[in-house]
Amino acid sequence: MTGIIISDDTQQLATPTLPDFLQSDLTQCASLPSLPTVAIRVLEVAGYPDATLNDYAHAIERDPALTLRLISLANSAFYARHHTETHSCLEATSRLGLDATLAAVMSFSLWRDRQADDQIQRIWGRSIVAALAARYLAEQLCPDQSNFVFTAALLQDIGMLALMAVYPRDAQELYTTMPLSHSQISDGEHTRFGCDHPSVGGWLAARWGVPASLAQAISDSHGEISTRDGIPRFCLRLSGLIADAWLSSTPSQLLAVLISKLEPVDIASSISLSELLNSVESQLPPLADLFDLTMPFAHDHEALVTQAQHLLFQQTLSLNARLDAQQQEIESLRQRQTELEERSRRDPLTGLANRAWLEEQLHLHFALCREEERTMSVVFIDLDHFKKLNDRFGHQTGDRVLERFGHVLGSLAREGDLAGRYGGEEFLIILPGETAKGAQRFAQRIAKRLAETPMEMIDGRELFVSVSIGIACLSDGGFSNGRELIDAADQSMYFIKRTGRGGISLYGH
Ligand code: GH3
Ligand code: MG
Ligand code: MG
Repeated sequence: MTGIIISDDTQQLATPTLPDFLQSDLTQCASLPSLPTVAIRVLEVAGYPDATLNDYAHAIERDPALTLRLISLANSAFYARHHTETHSCLEATSRLGLDATLAAVMSFSLWRDRQADDQIQRIWGRSIVAALAARYLAEQLCPDQSNFVFTAALLQDIGMLALMAVYPRDAQELYTTMPLSHSQISDGEHTRFGCDHPSVGGWLAARWGVPASLAQAISDSHGEISTRDGIPRFCLRLSGLIADAWLSSTPSQLLAVLISKLEPVDIASSISLSELLNSVESQLPPLADLFDLTMPFAHDHEALVTQAQHLLFQQTLSLNARLDAQQQEIESLRQRQTELEERSRRDPLTGLANRAWLEEQLHLHFALCREEERTMSVVFIDLDHFKKLNDRFGHQTGDRVLERFGHVLGSLAREGDLAGRYGGEEFLIILPGETAKGAQRFAQRIAKRLAETPMEMIDGRELFVSVSIGIACLSDGGFSNGRELIDAADQSMYFIKRTGRGGISLYGH
């Protein structure tokens, strides 16, 4: 193993914390993926914003084997078309371009086991597709970061290689049954290792001494798809999902999920997914060659994206239908609740407020009127000789009389007044803002109406009822609560009962 350069700065900035046991196992593992010095130099160069091809070539030339590999790659069928043969590292680098050069350096350094099993092939396959997708996205959204994003995407899963080296059996088990959803893999890793492969990858990269920003990017390459952590992170994270869709046997479904995740992201509207997929497709063969990978994935991308959108549309429709149904259910529950509340405040026979509601409202109005220094009155009404009426004409007739009387009361009450049945044949009307005189006029209207309107017809004969009415006005006594106001009105009403019935009495007058 060669070339681990750890600067203190880099360690401080980029090394994510891993669980202690994991860190010690990784540190002691002899077969941990490693980078030779030259690869680290190349990565350092990649970190300089104005690195030239010359800088790359210089870094690479230190390693003759790598230089040879690059030259032969540049002379390979894909790159050599229409070109003369390349002989120098600088020529090779310029023909390959920075990304392929970087990828070659990485592949040479990490991808030494050509006979690697399917699992490793899949991991690299994903990384390569992700790297191409990430570069395409970065070129559209943050062009000056495209090399950085490309490299970070390419290295985003090195943590899986490290975990495979340290815990071959666990990793094998976890990754062989690998569902293509990376989030499920991360969950499994958390359960087994106490952290996931992006953190391990970031830790490993920091140990290699790659630029701190790169190690950090690897650590959070699998986070939330949003631009909150910057556009390069967005490109990087999105690239992994695109690679998952690319490698999936049901790509349109994963693309549909991806499209829905992109919906809230503003800048995503400028990205054409089918162009992105086409771009990946056209650049995949040379990169896959470089890694000796077979990547036989050719999709009709436009159809794929359309299918994904269609799928999403259907999902949205059924989701909307479900939401509509839920909304309706909530609405009808709310209505039912309102009805129940309303009913719980009503007296069933007369439809007027019941005693509980009257008392609640009285307390409320009492407090309000006192606070606003307004007056208010209550009118207490008791039907006269009602027991006799029941005895003579029957309880049902009594009920009908109560019902009609309730109707009369309701029709005479004005907006803001509250008329209710206090109990039996007793009624109460709350008149907020009303003086004793006003309440008296109201009571006179009731008495007049009762004198004019029969409450029932019995054997063709009209049945009239009279009432005893007591009134109490907030301004006429030192009342300290609503209860005292009712008691005062009740007392006044009893005064009428004692003096012959069928009259009105004002408390304190
Ligand atoms: P007073 O003039 O002194 O008020 O005599 P009253 O008979 O009206 O008063 P009392 O309190 O002695 O009796 C009230 C009667 O009202 C007794 C009860 O049967 C009757 N009553 C109470 N609630 C109802 C009801 O819901 N329906 C019917 N039909 N009668 C009721
Ligand atoms: Mg009574
Ligand atoms: Mg009575």
